[in-house]
Amino acid sequence: MILPIRTFGDPVLRHKGARIDKITSAIQKLIEDLFETMYAAAGVGLAAQQVGQELQLAVIDVRAVKDRPSTLELEGKPADVHSFMPLVLINPEIRPSGEPSTGPEGCLSFPEIYADITRPESVEVTALNGNGERIGFKAGGLLSRAIQHEVDHLNGILFIDRMSTVDKKSLKAELESLQETTRVDLKKSG
Ligand code: ZN
Repeated sequence: MILPIRTFGDPVLRHKGARIDKITSAIQKLIEDLFETMYAAAGVGLAAQQVGQELQLAVIDVRAVKDRPSTLELEGKPADVHSFMPLVLINPEIRPSGEPSTGPEGCLSFPEIYADITRPESVEVTALNGNGERIGFKAGGLLSRAIQHEVDHLNGILFIDRMSTVDKKSLKAELESLQETTRVDLKKSG
């Protein structure tokens, strides 16, 4: 089922997700819906908060992006990114590392808004997958960026928080207008 994506101005995007203790059938259904919603919106990642659920759960799939490479290491050895996708991250813990890397970023909760964001190049991840099994890996490139962006969502952090002051200033009108539209829509529906 495709779920409505919450947009900037919706308070749920600022809420930290609760840890998931058990992969119930409701969680499995939510994972399915997150993927369906993300693919329909042509995104590379989607966090539970973006569909109104305050949980430590995000989904990622970078396969559709051809022009921005990703790297993956499993047990210290280079591994195939595509066969590791799609990726479910439950209760993820990350350790970013490497040099700061700047690249374009967007967010499905901020339609039509893009900016360059600087984040560490690599990230070490431990999490549970969709079957509740513990996974550990190291990612670089787009995959690292997507993981850091999604884990931010799980902690109520948005990419505008990591924008340069100059970019944020130049996007001020668009951000305020989006926030206002979201508030009006929330009022109508609630
Ligand atoms: Zn996002």
